[in-house]
Amino acid sequence: MKILIVEDETSISRFVQLELEHEGYGTECVADGREALDKAVQNDYDLIVLDVMLPSLNGIEVLRRLRQVKQTPVIILTARDQIMDKVAGLDLGADDYMTKPFAIEELLARIRTNIKKRTQSGSGVLTCGKLKVDTEAHIVNYGSDVIDLTKKEFDLLVYLLANRNVVISREQALDAVWGFDFYGNTNVVDVYIRYLRSKIDDVYNCTVIHTVRGAGYVIRD
Ligand code: CA
Repeated sequence: MKILIVEDETSISRFVQLELEHEGYGTECVADGREALDKAVQNDYDLIVLDVMLPSLNGIEVLRRLRQVKQTPVIILTARDQIMDKVAGLDLGADDYMTKPFAIEELLARIRTNIKKRTQSGSGVLTCGKLKVDTEAHIVNYGSDVIDLTKKEFDLLVYLLANRNVVISREQALDAVWGFDFYGNTNVVDVYIRYLRSKIDDVYNCTVIHTVRGAGYVIRD
């Protein structure tokens, strides 16, 4: 479990960090809004504790931009007199909020609740490195980029991702994605693999889908 703490008041971030690590969480701290957004987009944290008043980019703006690309649970920290921040934060998709000053036990309890909620709801997000597929929202990201896929390309990618590290034969892919009533031949799988590679591997200069000679295709960790 890794938590990103975004807070420019060092005394608060240090304290929260110590308490979280005592509870067994891994932590990272940043004090700057822009840096927080970069980190939050590039890494997969289990939760983000996000202060609103920050240098360079405020917490509300960090949250707004983050939500365009991912749904990491976020608890915002607001000052007692900043009721509008609380409202804006929740509107923009914050999972919870805490008003400063807060009791650390309460923050810990909310962190536990929000991580659990996310795990139980089965977010339907499949990832492999920088590639991320939200099967509910039908959104495919590579880093912060959105990749536009057709229905069959999407289904094939999801099938391969859901079976990560398992070599999938052309017949299996055909059955799973096109169905038993599909009268084409297995070449269609190769064609769609090529489409996916042209939209992902070629663009980002990486190898997401591996060919296993004589066996099929696999996405490996
Ligand atoms: Ca602050």
